[in-house]
Amino acid sequence: MREHRIAAIPGDGIGNEVLPEALRVLDRVGAAHGFRLAATVLPWSCERYLTDGAMMPADGLDRLREHDAVFLGAVGYPGVPDHVSLWGLLIPIRRAFGQYVNMRPIRLFDGITGPLRDATPRMVDMVVVRENNEGEYSEIGGRLYQGTPEEFAVQQSTFTRRGTERIMRFAFELAAERSGRVASATKSNGIIHTMPFWDEVFGEFAAAHPDLSTEQLHIDALAAGFVLNPARFDVIVASNLFGDILSDLGAAVAGSIGIAPSANLNPSGSHPSMFEPVHGSAPDIAGRGVANPIGQIWSGALMLRHLGHEAAAREVESAIETVLATTDARTPDLGGTASTTEMTDEIIRALPSA
Ligand code: ATP
Ligand code: MG
Repeated sequence: MREHRIAAIPGDGIGNEVLPEALRVLDRVGAAHGFRLAATVLPWSCERYLTDGAMMPADGLDRLREHDAVFLGAVGYPGVPDHVSLWGLLIPIRRAFGQYVNMRPIRLFDGITGPLRDATPRMVDMVVVRENNEGEYSEIGGRLYQGTPEEFAVQQSTFTRRGTERIMRFAFELAAERSGRVASATKSNGIIHTMPFWDEVFGEFAAAHPDLSTEQLHIDALAAGFVLNPARFDVIVASNLFGDILSDLGAAVAGSIGIAPSANLNPSGSHPSMFEPVHGSAPDIAGRGVANPIGQIWSGALMLRHLGHEAAAREVESAIETVLATTDARTPDLGGTASTTEMTDEIIRALPSA
């Protein structure tokens, strides 16, 4: 039986509730498809930071390197600033392992009422491809003259040709496998150095792929489009900052942030990729067993696909779709009363192999 070594990091808050449930689904599917996930559970979290002064041990990255994939719950804890979990765990992993793609599928499932309600065309099925390693989220910059009227802050964005080309390549290849449409998020009217460069590289890829339908939209118009007519989009390629904003907006349009999955991919496979739900640790509902497990389970399906188990991944996605379309099982974020475990049980029941 084929075995995959998975580094499972539940993290904080509801991460501890949804991650074990997702593993339950994946184990079940693996047994039916002839593979096994050997999960090493690593208690790396903001809670660890509070007791030990670091989110992960000093050799943390080396330990992760020995695995085929990282499966993460969520990190974040009241009183611990967000930049601690970001720069103490997520960003080091994304960068050390060359996870330059952040892929976030967005679907409005049948049986879910999004905030746009009847105004939303049903066929919302898109993927935000966010550049994950460079762009606006940089360490370059600083503050000067603090406490004086002349105080100012500067933050430098970096867009390399290599980094921009590789995210475009991933987006165009994904669009070719899907419905053949790719939209680029830009703001070259206001950001006059980096964004025209981004547009130029997008234009080169568009010219090289005459078979694909391409368009470039300013981020403000694109955000409005997500609300007014999300069904027109398929693959959206965006910088680190724009992709971050669009994927949360997309998750909201699709009904609940509790559903949305994400994959931090190193497409070459030279280092492990990382799979995590879009939502955070949700301290407001943590410990009550009511978190929606779908975001974590769907992230698990993306992990199976990355590990080469396309059929198994599809089974998990179809089970989610079936449960939402044909049963009343809903966690409170979707207006129901099901617990995290009940929701997971329902999804397991909907697996063809169950
Ligand atoms: P972070 O800083 O880690 O992103 P956050 O507070 O900004 O945390 P979330 O933790 O995602 O963001 O929480 C945002 C809101 O969505 C909260 O009200 C939370 O309860 C809700 N939420 C998040 N994830 C889920 C889930 N899986 N099921 C139900 N509700 C959720
Ligand atoms: Mg947040």
